[in-house]
Amino acid sequence: MPWPPVFGKVFMLPLEDGFSRRFYYLRLSVTDVCNFRCTYCLPDGYRPSDGRKSFLSLDEIRRIVSGFAAMGTRKVRLTGGEPSLRRDFTRIIETVANTPGIDKVAMTTNGYRLKERAGEWRAAGLTALNVSVDSLDPRQFHQITGENKLEEVMAGIEAALEAGFPSVKVNAVLLRGLNDHQLDAFLAWIRDKPIDLRFIELMQTGEMDSLFRDRHVSGEQIKARLLAQGWLTQLRGVDDGPAQVFQHPASRGRIGLIMPYSKDFCAGCNRLRVSSVGKLHLCLFGEQGVALRDLLAGDEQQDALIERIRTALLGKAATHHLHEGNAGMTPHLASIGG
Ligand code: SAM
Ligand code: SF4
Repeated sequence: MPWPPVFGKVFMLPLEDGFSRRFYYLRLSVTDVCNFRCTYCLPDGYRPSDGRKSFLSLDEIRRIVSGFAAMGTRKVRLTGGEPSLRRDFTRIIETVANTPGIDKVAMTTNGYRLKERAGEWRAAGLTALNVSVDSLDPRQFHQITGENKLEEVMAGIEAALEAGFPSVKVNAVLLRGLNDHQLDAFLAWIRDKPIDLRFIELMQTGEMDSLFRDRHVSGEQIKARLLAQGWLTQLRGVDDGPAQVFQHPASRGRIGLIMPYSKDFCAGCNRLRVSSVGKLHLCLFGEQGVALRDLLAGDEQQDALIERIRTALLGKAATHHLHEGNAGMTPHLASIGG
């Protein structure tokens, strides 16, 4: 496809906000439902709060992704809740992968069904995979996620590498006193594997009470230990997003740190989010979201959809307000896909 994309005689300008940030990356939640009970996300499990929600249909997903692709979006990440719980998940991957303009289709998963489905998802067009693994100790994994499934998840990661994914990203939320002492075990695990390990600082959300105070630990501590052990900061590319990435000559795997409380974190923001009920979220910690669903009933509404998204983007704030303890309207990250 030419750049900028051409539709009819109209050149579509890429999505840009009032701070000259450009958005080529969409995180699309396909369900709020989850089968895990992570202490920092859904400690009591998924409970439909306001009756049964109806999540975006395959056609609605196709229209959203086409609209974003027309404005320059190149990468879509499918997330949730747990995206693999959708019975039509393989068809969702196919639909997104077949949208003209989209060249990367990623997913974030807790590893459910990964062992059985990695090959099928790869064949359907999935190009990248993030799997959440908060601890390499089975008992602690169980304690954090509410599920005794570490072995199954690890087998899923192996299956993904065998299915031909060039690398797998692994997300671990840093939790004081739980996994912050396990750096050496994580480093040993990725020494000979093409794994990009991402340590994510715990983020405070609306429904979180004492957990943040008790368990939040800054990624700076991990960074200091990595630098002391000879890990080198990797230069950031324009499209790299907010992670600081480190590599080591003796390790095949790499480490990334996602530190939302660090200075300038939001300056590199390159992503927009659409929730599983079709609301556009300009920030993970923003307000209610802008409803798009009324414009997803037919293909002829695409121009109006594009207009609404562009207009909304003008209201994107320079930064979140997490430092003031304000997580916006987000009750937990399963509601918007993390
Ligand atoms: N269920 C899938 C999973 O766990 O990978 C996808 C959805 S989950 C909301 C996406 C990511 O957000 C996961 O890596 C999870 O660890 C992370 N996450 C959830 N709540 C968080 C919080 N309060 N702080 C930091 N990361 C969080
Ligand atoms: Fe479910 Fe993912 Fe939230 Fe854990 S982090 S409860 S797996 S949505």
